[in-house]
Amino acid sequence: MGEHAPLIVIIGGGFGGLAAAKALRKTPARVLLIDRTNHHLFQPLLYQVANAELTPGQIASPIRAILRKQRNTTVILGEATAVDTERRCVFVDSVDRERVPISYDYLILATGSGHSYFGHDEFERFAPGLKSLANAVAARNKILQAFEQAEAEEDPTRHADLLTFVLVGGGPTGVEMAGALAVLVRNTLRSDFRRIDPASARVILVDGGSRVLGTFAENLSRAAKARLERLGVQVRLGHVVDEIDADGVVVAGEHISSKTVIWTAGVSPSPAGKWLKAETDRAGRVRVLKDLSVPGHPEIFVVGDTASLDQDGRPLPGVAQVAMQQGRYAARLIDRRLTGRAVPAPFRYFDKGNLAVVGRGFAVLQAGKVRLSGFLAWLVWAAVHLEFLAQSNLRVSVFVQWVWTYLTGQRGSRLIVHYPGSDRQKAEPDAAGDARVAAVSPR
Ligand SMILES: Cc1cc2nc3c(=O)[nH]c(=O)nc-3n(C[C@H](O)[C@H](O)[C@H](O)COP(=O)(O)OP(=O)(O)OC[C@H]3O[C@@H](n4cnc5c(N)ncnc54)[C@H](O)[C@@H]3O)c2cc1C
Repeated sequence: MGEHAPLIVIIGGGFGGLAAAKALRKTPARVLLIDRTNHHLFQPLLYQVANAELTPGQIASPIRAILRKQRNTTVILGEATAVDTERRCVFVDSVDRERVPISYDYLILATGSGHSYFGHDEFERFAPGLKSLANAVAARNKILQAFEQAEAEEDPTRHADLLTFVLVGGGPTGVEMAGALAVLVRNTLRSDFRRIDPASARVILVDGGSRVLGTFAENLSRAAKARLERLGVQVRLGHVVDEIDADGVVVAGEHISSKTVIWTAGVSPSPAGKWLKAETDRAGRVRVLKDLSVPGHPEIFVVGDTASLDQDGRPLPGVAQVAMQQGRYAARLIDRRLTGRAVPAPFRYFDKGNLAVVGRGFAVLQAGKVRLSGFLAWLVWAAVHLEFLAQSNLRVSVFVQWVWTYLTGQRGSRLIVHYPGSDRQKAEPDAAGDARVAAVSPR
């Protein structure tokens, strides 16, 4: 590809950005994909890393490896920090340089979202979220370490708060975490300890809404809640968490002692709207036109979790399918413009359905008029997730691990690994001289 060919810059190699890059493989243009991590992450399976079922390497692939055969595409490790829409350039911090200006003819922003603590950012220190591989490994460390601490603790009165796990948020991630954690404590760890009984651990799921899985049909929410309760999860609905600190959470005036609180309640979009000085919705997502471009900038597209678009009077959800379909659409539109063909009809999301897994061998499925819960839905869930993993080696390895776990109850990665400077937990003496665990939340 000649150096004068148009340059399409994609920021973000997640679901939206990667789908756009792949769809541009035959476009007569240079494609530059920039991501602040070197890997494409399959976020729907993060909870399985947090629960020691899969290893980080089974749910993420180097972006460079995925796109290695795409001759028109270059991958750069770097973090976008600003966009100059007048000069048509994006500023990127790379490994050893800051604010490197990179010019573009077309720009696709697919920078996803992070956690939202709904105005309580102070909660993050005690209740890390689940968004990156570092988050998932930190959560795994925290969960496994709680059992180790309890086994080492001679005073049985201190076991209860160590073995109480609170999950904040009853959406798909909270439900999937709660189900997997319940199976971990009741089955996988059953015979591994001598002083404590892992099955005595409490898993508590808290949500301010009136049901779990609020975006699913009511009967599926009921089925998921019943399944969680059968697994031993305490589901507390209708109350938000008022406080979180190193000793636990306060819900509806009740203090629940816990050393492990995990936040799955909310997301906030990337700052792309600020970079562009564009109109955003209340959550901060960039309001895009029906062709996914930014008003006044037909050369800039925003896709995925960081874009806001209504369809049939309702905002599109922040899910992988929306991001992938939008990424492909933006790519097709740019390709047609560059090749002088008619642009496609406005973007329309095709909803293939929603799935959530609850423990082992049970899922809920909602697709059009189909509503299903149980083992069959779980088989569909497993097939869909395997299909969407980025590379075939991951599909084989995850499939084998799932079969092994299903048959034996054993998990793939029950390791406590602290990476220097990332998620190390340090013991800080408190006023009474006791050692308390202070989690330094990773980002
Ligand atoms: C725990 C969890 C479970 C989920 N489960 C499901 C599920 O079961 N089904 C489903 O459909 N959806 C699920 N989702 C939602 C789904 O993952 C998102 O909707 C989807 O990832 C959005 O795609 P995206 O391309 O917008 O962003 P992402 O996939 O998040 O990708 C954003 C990319 O941009 C990069 N990036 C961000 N900022 C910068 C920057 N400044 N510079 C450079 N690079 C940057 C990031 O490193 C990342 O690679 C889940 C999400 C989470 C967190």
